[in-house]
Amino acid sequence: MILFFFGPPGAGKGTQAKLISKELNIIHLSTGDMLRDQLSKNNYLSTRLKKIMDSGQLVSDDISNQIISERLKEEDCKKGFILDGYPRTMAQALFLNNLLAKNKLKIDYIFEIYIDDKIIIKRITGRAAIENRGDDSKNIIKTRLLKYHQETKIVSEFYKKELNSVYYFIDGDQEITKLNLEILKIVKN
Ligand code: AMP
Repeated sequence: MILFFFGPPGAGKGTQAKLISKELNIIHLSTGDMLRDQLSKNNYLSTRLKKIMDSGQLVSDDISNQIISERLKEEDCKKGFILDGYPRTMAQALFLNNLLAKNKLKIDYIFEIYIDDKIIIKRITGRAAIENRGDDSKNIIKTRLLKYHQETKIVSEFYKKELNSVYYFIDGDQEITKLNLEILKIVKN
């Protein structure tokens, strides 16, 4: 099964992707996590990445596409995967579509978690204090939200048209367990 999540930063994509990954026993691939792993390496690339990520900007499509295409070749992706935080731009969406078509794979479910920007700002400034993520402070979250509206909204619109029958909207302003149940009900139907 292949599924992915759309939604602004702080909507709960990561939390839901992790839960569903356990429940369905398929791998969770977060480009944000993969990129954060690179940051500890202390080399030229990690310094560049840190600067981009800490400012709330998007990492280049080349880098994002490469980490995903490399990761998808691994054995644990053979029975399916959950994408979280990818694709985020139209270039990434076209790259992914091409990659899936080449491997004769299809997307089974797309979930868009929708939630108001104001709730996110409140939520994510709390997360910054708990998780000590450099990219979660208030000004930076505003940049991240702007990037979402400028770059990623078009991608979700694209998939909504292209794959309407597997595209589901989920209200992000509800308890984690309720949201999870809603998603589970759809995938187990
Ligand atoms: P996330 O954990 O998904 O919120 O991602 C954290 C940060 O990693 C983002 O703000 C971007 O700087 C970078 N990032 C993650 N995924 C992507 C992607 N698909 N394309 C570009 N940048 C990304």
